[in-house]
Amino acid sequence: MSECLFCKIVEKKIPAKLVHEDELTLAFDDIHPQAPVHTLVIPKRHVSAVQDLGLGDESLLAQLLISCTKIAALKGVQESGYRVVTNTGRDAGQTVFHLHFHVLGGRPMAWPPG
Ligand code: AMP
Ligand code: ZN
Repeated sequence: MSECLFCKIVEKKIPAKLVHEDELTLAFDDIHPQAPVHTLVIPKRHVSAVQDLGLGDESLLAQLLISCTKIAALKGVQESGYRVVTNTGRDAGQTVFHLHFHVLGGRPMAWPPG
């Protein structure tokens, strides 16, 4: 059995508040939201981080970003704006090593990020 937290969510072995699901991706609300809208979009297949995608993963990458835009629409932040972020490695603060895109919105956000 996979020890990866997000693989366990894909396998429905641990609960999550699902927002969207398709053949390749899953989206669920972040357990510690940093904004009124904070949803994670992940590939169902285990991928550690964005650099582990390569040629041959075009459909998956496209579907991940399309899922992010669907979340923004579903959560009502398409017009007000939102941020899509993927933390990669130590300096970026990645804590879960299963690729995920954060979809954040519902409040103004600062730039540059902290
Ligand atoms: P990162 O720090 O970019 O790797 O993001 C990992 C995110 O996963 C954090 O925002 C956590 O709050 C979130 N997270 C950790 N465990 C869970 C969980 N069981 N369900 C939903 N989100 C989680
Ligand atoms: Zn995984």
